[in-house]
Amino acid sequence: MPLLLVTNDDGVHAAGLAALAEAVSELGDVWVIAPEREQSACGHALTLHRPIRPTEVRDRERWFAVNGTPSDCVNLGVLGFLPERPVLVLSGINHGSNLGDDVTYSGTVSAAMEGTLLGVPSIAFSLVEGDDFTVAAGVARLIATRALVESIPRKTLLNVNVPAGTPRGVRVAALGHRVYSDKIVAQADPRGRTHYWIGGGEPQWEALDGTDMGAVHEGYVSISPVQLDLTNHRAVAHMADWQNALNAQYRRAHRSG
Ligand code: MN
Repeated sequence: MPLLLVTNDDGVHAAGLAALAEAVSELGDVWVIAPEREQSACGHALTLHRPIRPTEVRDRERWFAVNGTPSDCVNLGVLGFLPERPVLVLSGINHGSNLGDDVTYSGTVSAAMEGTLLGVPSIAFSLVEGDDFTVAAGVARLIATRALVESIPRKTLLNVNVPAGTPRGVRVAALGHRVYSDKIVAQADPRGRTHYWIGGGEPQWEALDGTDMGAVHEGYVSISPVQLDLTNHRAVAHMADWQNALNAQYRRAHRSG
């Protein structure tokens, strides 16, 4: 049986984690390594300044809680803590959506990024609304099964969002883009000082057509293939004149200095 690593960012006691581990239990040997506390919006953080320690979860076989982040859990699982290398990293099911530009903040998606960077096909799952994971777990099993059979494109993770209720189907979609105008909400405290809420406003999105946000808005499961190559390769070519100009200025300054 292939080894499957399951993790999340809501913490080892989250209902979505148990639902995901249970959903894929027949696809392989499932090992769960998850943060001991909630780490939502931790992004891709890695713990380097203190030791991380897996602790067996009581009454759960092959379940471990870690005093660290989702990325820590994936590193542990892929780089030697488990009896063999996992064939799949599955992250979630997150309580709440991870859509569009928000994936950069997401611990759920970062776990899948880490798996991908380490060369293991990885999928992140999120339930957009509510806390009934039944349908989302079934969708996760379908997608994980297909990933095992068909494999995921190289250096690419799948980001899956499941809408509330009964989805109308599945759409492969691009990540949407947020409009950031309302991102900070300013309020006065009782002493008249101003404080700020980040993420307090209603999220707004650019055109929804073809995006993950549009898909879940219309009641579909979204699957977004996400790559980690952040370089704008066209810009590398276009910026040759930057290189030339900066080199000329640098040499001039260096000579005169
Ligand atoms: Mn979360």
